[in-house]
Amino acid sequence: MNYDRMRQEEQALWREIQSLMRRADEVDAEEDELYGPDSRGDELPEDLRCRQDRLAKIREAKARLEARQKSENSDAGNHPGLQSEVRRERPARTGLGPRCRPTGRRPPSDSGPGPLWRPAAPTPRLGSGSAPPPPMLEPAEALDRLRQGNARFAAGEVRACRPPTPEERAELARGQSPWAVVLGCSDSRVPVELVFDQGPGSLFVVRVAGNAATPGAVGSAEFGVGSLGCRLLVVLGHEGCGAVRAALEAEPGSLTPHLEDLVEGVRQGLRREPEGGAGPVLRNARAQAAQLLEQSALLREASEAGRLRVVAAVKDLESGRVAFDGG
Ligand SMILES: [Zn+2]
Repeated sequence: MNYDRMRQEEQALWREIQSLMRRADEVDAEEDELYGPDSRGDELPEDLRCRQDRLAKIREAKARLEARQKSENSDAGNHPGLQSEVRRERPARTGLGPRCRPTGRRPPSDSGPGPLWRPAAPTPRLGSGSAPPPPMLEPAEALDRLRQGNARFAAGEVRACRPPTPEERAELARGQSPWAVVLGCSDSRVPVELVFDQGPGSLFVVRVAGNAATPGAVGSAEFGVGSLGCRLLVVLGHEGCGAVRAALEAEPGSLTPHLEDLVEGVRQGLRREPEGGAGPVLRNARAQAAQLLEQSALLREASEAGRLRVVAAVKDLESGRVAFDGG
């Protein structure tokens, strides 16, 4: 995935929205010609359903566009053209869709520029009611949140990692805006959201045994950074990791082919990462972090441009504490 492709997808979405808007305009004009302004009275149930389906389609397309746009906006205005497109975007319409019969209580003709539809209030941005979305957390802020959350976890005072309220669920259903990517191990003792005491919608979590930078893990991290706009990527290892132990101790031929592939990635990482007083778990986390950057141009460029910070970390199983590499 790259910015050109994202931009193409956004432009396709934008064209789709414009097409829907144009079609809705045409249908409304036809209805007015056929039935006249007197038809703007009672609604029929089937018409309502048709209208709702149409609006749902338009809103879905807009939501997809806005979700992508949000991640682009966090990228220091690299795509001013797209941002201006969104500013030009028309608000949600209230008209009927194709083949819907004309009904609907339309606004009085003296209350707007057109006899059929007129712009409603500006469409709220996703994720924050009528306010603009908050900017993506700086890496240092995101890291601080993780530290604080982990301190709560280690102290047995978890409070953010809980089921969402109905209002929060509704908000989450409209879109996600996580502020950190975490590549962790699949180990059942390292549930990432709980370890960092973060609720749904906060962390974009990838879990692979040995927190290995497999192709799927790299792609997932690219999505978290490139599309969602996260500026912190943590590679979280843990003491007592079976994948690291297998990389050090497994007999040749003792693993299934897929598992061998995965463990070989850990093995290669350990060979490349100098010991220097660090244990194998931290060395593996460092090696997988380096692998992410080596394998992904998107992550590498974001890191080199200062938009992304990549940090290795290790969780101690007994204390629950996470030690971030470099303090
Ligand atoms: Zn593990």
